[in-house]
Amino acid sequence: MHPILSKSTYLYGLQCIKRLYLYKKHYHLANPIDETNQAVFQTGTDVGELAQSLFPNGVNAQGDEPYHSEKTAKQTAALLANHDVIYEAAFIYNDVICAVDILVRKNNTYYAFEVKSTTKLKPQHIEDAALQYYVLSNAGIDLADFSIVVLNNEYVRQGNLNLDALFNPISVLKFLDDKQVFIAENISRLKKVVWLKSIPEVEMGGHCNSPYECSFTQYCLSQSPQELVEEIELDNAINVNKEAWVEFSDELQYPLHFFDFESISYALPEFDNSRPYQQIVFQYSLHIQKKAKSNFIHKAFLGDGVKDPRLALIKQMIKDLGKKGSIVVWNISFEKTVISKLAIDFPEYADELLALNERMVDLMNPFRPNRKIVLSEAFQGSFSLKAVLPIVAPELSYANLNIQEGGTASFKYGQLKEMNELEKTQVRQDLLDYCHLDTLAMLKVWEKINELV
Ligand code: SF4
Repeated sequence: MHPILSKSTYLYGLQCIKRLYLYKKHYHLANPIDETNQAVFQTGTDVGELAQSLFPNGVNAQGDEPYHSEKTAKQTAALLANHDVIYEAAFIYNDVICAVDILVRKNNTYYAFEVKSTTKLKPQHIEDAALQYYVLSNAGIDLADFSIVVLNNEYVRQGNLNLDALFNPISVLKFLDDKQVFIAENISRLKKVVWLKSIPEVEMGGHCNSPYECSFTQYCLSQSPQELVEEIELDNAINVNKEAWVEFSDELQYPLHFFDFESISYALPEFDNSRPYQQIVFQYSLHIQKKAKSNFIHKAFLGDGVKDPRLALIKQMIKDLGKKGSIVVWNISFEKTVISKLAIDFPEYADELLALNERMVDLMNPFRPNRKIVLSEAFQGSFSLKAVLPIVAPELSYANLNIQEGGTASFKYGQLKEMNELEKTQVRQDLLDYCHLDTLAMLKVWEKINELV
């Protein structure tokens, strides 16, 4: 018989029965899949495929099928006769189909491995494993162990990836037994949901983003009764506590260096001397102003999207930032952490790098509401540059840029190596424009508040 639930739909049902129902019966109502979602899926696939090499010479039971189906389950059963390592090994029990990423047989006992592209074991991984254990055990697979394979974030790549060091299998068998009785109950509850005649009513709440972001949020939002929001006219007036601002600005020393990094994190360390998910800086923008109200000069660095950008970036950054004058950033902890990390990974530059951290000043601080230095009702409690800029320097705007926030910048940078020359030229320009505006915005905000004072 055709399975009613899969591992994914079972987990959707645990999160929210409405999600399960919508997925099964009204899939067309799902949020559109954007490029960033696709990149996340692709990361999962890449990590899963690489982990298969931990157990070489296996056969893939899924073949060219896009989904696990009864066909994959039949194929698995056939392969078990002659193969000890099976990838995507699918089983059906109690109308539920599950495929385990890697199934290994040694001396007639089985070991299951489920690969996750995270660096930590999470509670939802246990739910996932518990369902697989239930299906596999009841389908006659005698499991001696069940492991979740995560990435080891302490692994530092040197040369080819060392898979034994990169992957960290964690046995979760001890957690699975206790969960079995609930699984049978959950399955029968969730099957009844699938048989419902209409969409179950569930209000939106914290569960919509936990443990995963639901793919039907746009639909549910469109169905929620809209509260009547009165258009409140926000007061754009900017109130500056002059004394406190002067005290803050006295800390800054010319030449001022308005500075901002962009970074990318690769699940699988792309370069030597890097770890899974490490933030790799690939770009910066720098506006330098030698004295108050003087003209400024702009400098920038952007990696090529292929080679490790860090060493070239370090060398140019040290030169561009010189030896004196404040380095003005927005949200100091990110820039300081990145520089400290670079100092560890490139110890020959550690002294010069750490000296940059000593000169750093956070322009965001005076905008924190609790500091009461620069306040405006129109900031709406936020102190991000994107919230402050339209009020303080409305002549500058991100709205016309092709890249408008950091997440898109890293995604686009990650895509550069796949692009043709024309696309590459455009995206490089978009990246330069975006980062340029970040530091120009800081400079303008600084000047505007000084003018007010
Ligand atoms: S958006 Fe929230 S309420 Fe709607 S289906 Fe998803 S989890 Fe359920």
